[in-house]
Amino acid sequence: ADRFITPAVTAPQEEVQDRAIRPKVLQDYVGQPVVKEQMEIFIGAARKRQEALDHTLIFGPPGLGKTTLANIIANEMECNIKSTSGPVLEKAGDLAAMLTNLEPGDVLFIDEIHRLSASVEEVLYPAMEDYQLDIMIGEGPAARSIKLELPPFTLVGATTRAGLLTSPLRDRFGIVQRLEFYNIDDLTSIVERSANLSGSGVDHEGAIEIARRARGTPRIANRLLRRARDYAEVKGDGRITLAMADLALNMLNVDEHGFDHMDRRLLLAMIEKFGGGPVGVDSLAAAISEERDTIEDVLEPYLIQQGFMMRTPRGRVVTDNAYRHFGLELPDTDQ
Ligand code: ADP
Repeated sequence: ADRFITPAVTAPQEEVQDRAIRPKVLQDYVGQPVVKEQMEIFIGAARKRQEALDHTLIFGPPGLGKTTLANIIANEMECNIKSTSGPVLEKAGDLAAMLTNLEPGDVLFIDEIHRLSASVEEVLYPAMEDYQLDIMIGEGPAARSIKLELPPFTLVGATTRAGLLTSPLRDRFGIVQRLEFYNIDDLTSIVERSANLSGSGVDHEGAIEIARRARGTPRIANRLLRRARDYAEVKGDGRITLAMADLALNMLNVDEHGFDHMDRRLLLAMIEKFGGGPVGVDSLAAAISEERDTIEDVLEPYLIQQGFMMRTPRGRVVTDNAYRHFGLELPDTDQ
């Protein structure tokens, strides 16, 4: 079944549709007021001094707008952006090739930066600190190291959790921004903005309903909007009313909290197989046949934020909210 909360796997056609609705300037970036205010100041100051912006680390769960923000930074700095990702940069030479292609002031965006190999990361340190490329070429007795001056540039790194980075890497970012889940008002604006730009008609109440069930995540809101539009075009007159949105989301198995079947499986496994916890994340991963990373990066941040589970030193536990959500009796607490 189609999973709405799948993080990275973005269908090619989604990327095309997305290009039209992705905000390009800070002003159109909805929500995240703290991040926006700070970035406005840092970008303004760097521009005034005609310097490259400080290296910036953006972290937060998938779909919250890290890539979008990286592109906005480049756009507001009026420079180019070169994008790559941790797993793609396999060898030091791959990174060197990207770095030597930069023009002064450019943004180098590295998604999933926590997945850089140690040897690539080592090339990054002097590049970030002194704009110097220090690299070995050749092998054996013929090997030698070369040093190259790089133009001043801005590294923008994105990661799901700041704790995944090695501390030498984390320490080299002058700016660190953490993206939060979006509230319903902001998500409603995002849905209405996207509907406008893609020419779909949505009632305010319909937009709110999609927003309420979008797991605090713009990418999911935009996906749900597209599916609600399909539904309304086939089952109605094309307009996404509250009733249409509700029917479409029910059909997609997105419940009133925006949980999909993976969220429900996780919570139910904790309740039914582990007595509500505490349970270690590895045992949970095995119980629901899901990757540990998916649980930690995608599933639990939202469930924790919504107060359905908690992380304790002894493991994960569900809260009373989870029992109520499934209409289950609360466990006896004074046993
Ligand atoms: P991430 O890189 O964190 O996984 P993206 O930057 O790809 O997330 O964001 C997913 C989609 O959600 C974007 O393509 C964009 O259309 C939308 N989006 C993200 N953040 C915002 C925002 N603040 N305002 C409006 N739309 C946003």
